[in-house]
Amino acid sequence: MSKIEIDQERCKGCGLCTIACPKTLIKIGEEINRQGYFYAIWEANEQCTGCAICGEICPDVAIRVWRDRGESRT
Ligand code: SF4
Ligand code: SF4
Repeated sequence: MSKIEIDQERCKGCGLCTIACPKTLIKIGEEINRQGYFYAIWEANEQCTGCAICGEICPDVAIRVWRDRGESRT
């Protein structure tokens, strides 16, 4: 299964990743980080394709993506 990890302390809560994810798997949570931002959260979800769009769009480089290499991407 592909997965992502969001560094909550780097996140500024801009919401770009929530819009960019084709599967709408990311949302802005209800807790704030040490910088005072509501940060993005992602719960493990098998719908994640590992496309990495979220990681590419994040201006704060807060998202890491692990792609499941055994997965068909068609
Ligand atoms: S890797 Fe793709 S499918 Fe997975 S959370 Fe990021 S944008 Fe969504
Ligand atoms: S794009 Fe980056 S900074 Fe913006 S909400 Fe998503 S993880 Fe946070």
